[in-house]
Amino acid sequence: MKKLPTCPCRTQCPQCQQFIVTEISTAVSSVTWMVCWMTALVGYGCVGGCCLIPFCMDSMKSTAHKCPKCRSTISTIKRL
Ligand SMILES: [Zn+2]
Repeated sequence: MKKLPTCPCRTQCPQCQQFIVTEISTAVSSVTWMVCWMTALVGYGCVGGCCLIPFCMDSMKSTAHKCPKCRSTISTIKRL
């Protein structure tokens, strides 16, 4: 499977063999939670706010490419 970008792109669906533009969805991964906890532990001085930073960063999330025709997940890009 070739690497897909984190934005919708044209590709051939391996399930239905059609040329489609992928639908993407970003999901918060377990890494995001880990970073959240670490930020909370390290930044003990600051209340709230800080530990929410990872959730605002796209690079902390995983991106899933889906086929709009058959709804199958073509590829999931995990960060970090
Ligand atoms: Zn498909």
